[in-house]
Amino acid sequence: MVCPICEKGKITKKIVDVVRHGIFVGHFKAEICNACDEQIFNSKEAARIESKMKELGLFGSEKATIYKIGGNLAIALKSSVAKALGISSSSKPVIITQAKEKRLIVELS
Ligand SMILES: [Zn+2]
Repeated sequence: MVCPICEKGKITKKIVDVVRHGIFVGHFKAEICNACDEQIFNSKEAARIESKMKELGLFGSEKATIYKIGGNLAIALKSSVAKALGISSSSKPVIITQAKEKRLIVELS
C-alpha cells in the first residue's frame, strides 16, 4: 500500500510506542510509512489509545477560550478538566511562561 499522506512511501504494519504530551501511553498497532514516518491507527487502536489516555488522566489537546477581564486575559478550563485536576476558582497555580516556545505551564501545588 502507498502512503496516503506523502504518496511515495510504502506502508507496513508495526507495533509503535505512543507518547502523548511527553507521557508514554503504551504500545499500539499502527501502519507506518517508510518515507514520511506517518503513523496511521485504525479506529479500534485509536479507541484503545484514547481509553488508555483517560486511564492515565491525560486529556487530549483542544483549542482554549480566552476571555478579556479588565486589562488582563483569562484562559477558561472545562469543568471536567478542573475536576480531574482538583482545582477551583480559589486555587493559586503558578504559571511558567516560555515565550520562545509560545508555551504556558500551569503548576498546581
Ligand atoms: Zn508517507
